[in-house]
Amino acid sequence: MADNPMLKFVDISRDMPQKRAPDLRNRDFDEIYDEYADDKAREQSSRCSQCGVPYCQSHCPLHNNIPDWLRLTAEGRLREAYDLSQSTNTFPEICGRICPQDRLCEGNCVIESSGHGTVTIGAVEKYITDTAWDNGWVTPAAPAKERTESVAIIGAGPGGLAAADMLRRAGIQVTVYDRYDRGGGLLTYGIPGFKLEKDVVMRRIAQLEAGGVTFRLNCTIGQDVSFADLRRDHDAVIIATGVYKSRDLAGPGAGAKGIVRAIDYLTASNRRSFGDAVPEFDSGALNAAGKRVVVIGGGDTAMDCVRTAIRQGADSVKCLYRRDRANMPGSLREVGNAEEEGVVFNWLSLPKGFSGESVTSVSVQQMRLGAPDVTGRRAPEEIEGAVQDEPADLVIKALGFEAEDLPTLWDQPELEVTRWGTIKAEFTTGRTSLPGVYAVGDIVRGASLVVWAIRDGRDCAGAILADLAAAHAVAAE
Ligand SMILES: Cc1cc2nc3c(=O)[nH]c(=O)nc-3n(C[C@H](O)[C@H](O)[C@H](O)COP(=O)(O)OP(=O)(O)OC[C@H]3O[C@@H](n4cnc5c(N)ncnc54)[C@H](O)[C@@H]3O)c2cc1C
Ligand code: SF4
Repeated sequence: MADNPMLKFVDISRDMPQKRAPDLRNRDFDEIYDEYADDKAREQSSRCSQCGVPYCQSHCPLHNNIPDWLRLTAEGRLREAYDLSQSTNTFPEICGRICPQDRLCEGNCVIESSGHGTVTIGAVEKYITDTAWDNGWVTPAAPAKERTESVAIIGAGPGGLAAADMLRRAGIQVTVYDRYDRGGGLLTYGIPGFKLEKDVVMRRIAQLEAGGVTFRLNCTIGQDVSFADLRRDHDAVIIATGVYKSRDLAGPGAGAKGIVRAIDYLTASNRRSFGDAVPEFDSGALNAAGKRVVVIGGGDTAMDCVRTAIRQGADSVKCLYRRDRANMPGSLREVGNAEEEGVVFNWLSLPKGFSGESVTSVSVQQMRLGAPDVTGRRAPEEIEGAVQDEPADLVIKALGFEAEDLPTLWDQPELEVTRWGTIKAEFTTGRTSLPGVYAVGDIVRGASLVVWAIRDGRDCAGAILADLAAAHAVAAE
């Protein structure tokens, strides 16, 4: 009987691709993990236990067929592994880099429960697709037949781009509108290069253009083009605008100079990496060099801010979060990376006020965790009298994002929203309260993940194709 190439987890240990040493990676915005060598990717894939009921697959929002592409990789059949992987995921190399695998696929890998360490699913997914790009297997859309129907997509983030890709492959005329000068949404201007290098995103945009997707950039819907005009000019409209209204801080001095929003700070840094002119960076307003930096928040955005500040040459970088490490929303893997790079975390710390016309310090209230609240999460409570000052020259607010008021901005009172301002849309189709209008990604879910935006975009494209087919069938009767 031929040797089984799989189930090697007992003999072979988990081994992530090499991570660059902190003192080297702190000097640039390049990704911190190297690529697997071919034999290492095969070896690591061979650790999969090929479960009959693969929990990794059911906990991947895209239900990627992980055990099968791991097996194909272990057998050296990379072209087939890529074909299978991209059949469910529009941007596998992006998910492989930035999905919080510890909470999704890898967090549910069965061999982890037996103490052997998860299969490195994300790193293999990245390896397969990067190899596909190197070998020219990733090709632009080439629809067998052009169709006359057109779809407008508002927002060139992962949700909008995933829908654009699927619709274009079906021959639909697709125009993506975005208010920024580059596509990619938060992949381009939010997430820093040390997690996702920008050419990885740009080559995807170029490929969509090569496949016939039209991009209208620097175009804000509601200002440059009205939403009503889009509905008139296209057979369907997808809203994929994400959520950008930053939650704010209260307390004395909260309006001081030197207290900035995370999205502005990260966008400026990403623009610098593209070589753009960024006056707010040059003036020092959005540049951490030589400063004592305090970042407020415990999510992925806060982690990206602290690590960006380190790379800009901050004197010190501290992160304040009102709960403890075990109860923070951000990925623990990223906390570990930040600590290695020199970030100090002040857990159970709540900012109460700020000193200075230009900020000089943050007044920090010490907290403890009390009884669980209605959500089951232990609520932070103040410890009486435990307040101290934390010196700061730059304070970055990373407290999360909310939806903009689209019905008002676009003069569409019939567009139904939830009490959080996100658009009410059917999960699995994206249909909204307006006929022919769909919505996907963060503007439906609230601040979420790239992989969920891709899932929504794909589902919505499928629903639009079905709805167009149904409309034709009625017209033909
Ligand atoms: C700093 C940061 C780090 C993150 N890190 C991770 C991570 O590591 N892993 C992960 O999975 N997720 C991460 N996320 C979350 C992830 O980026 C989002 O969930 C995802 O990008 C949402 O995709 P989207 O397509 O819905 O919206 P977005 O990516 O936000 O794209 C929306 C696009 O719509 C455009 N737009 C908005 N309004 C208009 C208008 N009126 N007219 C024209 N265009 C408009 C915007 O310019 C933008 O380009 C992070 C988020 C942030 C902020
Ligand atoms: S898309 Fe994300 S969750 Fe799914 S297999 Fe890839 S890394 Fe895991």
